[in-house]
Amino acid sequence: MRPLVCEIRLNYLRENYQILKNIHGNKLLAVVKSNAYGHGAVQCAHALHDIADGFAVAFVDEAIELRENGITKPIVVLEGVFQAAEYEAVERYDLWTAVHQQSQLEELLAYDWQKPVTVWLKMDSGMHRSGFFPHNYAAAYTALKQNLKVAKIVKMTHLACADDADRGMTEMQMEAFDLGCEGLAGEESVANSAAMLDYAETRRDWGRAGLALYGIDPFGKLSGSLKPVMRLSSKVFAERVLQPHEPIGYGASFYTKRSTRVGLVAGGYADGYPRRAGTDTPVALNGVRSRLIGRISMDMLTVELNSSQVGVGTEVELFGDMVNVNEVAHAAGTIPYEILCNIKRAKRVYLR
Ligand SMILES: *Cc1c(COP(=O)(O)O)cnc(C)c1O
Repeated sequence: MRPLVCEIRLNYLRENYQILKNIHGNKLLAVVKSNAYGHGAVQCAHALHDIADGFAVAFVDEAIELRENGITKPIVVLEGVFQAAEYEAVERYDLWTAVHQQSQLEELLAYDWQKPVTVWLKMDSGMHRSGFFPHNYAAAYTALKQNLKVAKIVKMTHLACADDADRGMTEMQMEAFDLGCEGLAGEESVANSAAMLDYAETRRDWGRAGLALYGIDPFGKLSGSLKPVMRLSSKVFAERVLQPHEPIGYGASFYTKRSTRVGLVAGGYADGYPRRAGTDTPVALNGVRSRLIGRISMDMLTVELNSSQVGVGTEVELFGDMVNVNEVAHAAGTIPYEILCNIKRAKRVYLR
């Protein structure tokens, strides 16, 4: 069997949730959109079910999948509905739905609710992706509040630069949010992972933790108390010795400088490992760090066998404990979110 394995350490997921909940205080949503950032939404939601205050997904179908697999805790649909007809599922599956624009608001008010609905009303406090502008927010809030079928309104905004060293943008957004919410009663939700770790003033009634829940530092750092939930590993299944000045792989992008032992590893870009992670991207061979050399192929990649201890059969960690996915993301010119979401085809192993 092909040795590429994607381990999901659900015990780490639980520990991370508790750590983040302690940091944020109040209530914390586990963000499990995009199949829990590639970790498996149903498995992750079940692993957290007894401790999580609720879950968040991007769209209604993601929420339905959780409900149909026995998840009974609150689920927030962060983008709300795309069509008015989806409010039927919001009601049937007892979902909390975001409202971020006027058409969604009007359709929600026009819908014939059989039981009251909970709305997460989104403000655009400066990211300018979605939400009501601060100066229109009170009007949207009031329109919902006056409708008896709206059970509860949670005031929400999203931060564009919470993981940025420059604090200016976040401080501006917080000011805009607080101003736009002035005089409007009810719970609030602001913080994503980076914000809850670094900005005390963003910790309101509900936190929304994604990346950090999966054990990855949103500031690109390598360690901390969070533990990486996903570990992607494989094995060396062939080796060869190349003389100095010999090329390796597609495009002959890498030439050996000296006599080099090269290990061929099962795993490539078709498994979601980023093709742009080139020579020098770290890997760990039986727990000792080494590096990729040459280009990533569709199904295979090549590593430098840097000690006589390693060869065919050696375990190769592509990321997890010895190599942080932040390092791979940095090498590939992307972010850890993208890499985690893309991992596929590898054999999945869920550990408790
Ligand atoms: C994805 C998402 C989050 C989680 O963000 P992380 O940076 O992964 O913690 C929070 N809020 C909203 C609205 C999101 O879309």
